[in-house]
Amino acid sequence: MEEETVVAVMSCECCGLEEECTGEYIGGVRAYFGGRWLCGLCSEAVKYEAGKSSPRAPDVEGAVRAHMAFCRMLKRGGPAERVAEGMCQMLRTASGKQRR
Ligand SMILES: [Zn+2]
Repeated sequence: MEEETVVAVMSCECCGLEEECTGEYIGGVRAYFGGRWLCGLCSEAVKYEAGKSSPRAPDVEGAVRAHMAFCRMLKRGGPAERVAEGMCQMLRTASGKQRR
């Protein structure tokens, strides 16, 4: 018998990317982002932004809103692939700065 895993297709509230995820994972993401679903890329970007403002008490809500605005801006510039590309670039720059 295979273990029963609940898999749902979730669409990111920021960039609209669709991902297949397990119920457990979805619960964890939603708990962190105040009931919202964010894709892997957006989660990383928001966590980074939230931790930057205050590492001890990250402003998740503010970071989510800022990131949603960022995604809307990128979406205006082109298709979804461009959004992911822009985010990858942002994260690369961000981690590059961290390493110094
Ligand atoms: Zn996303």
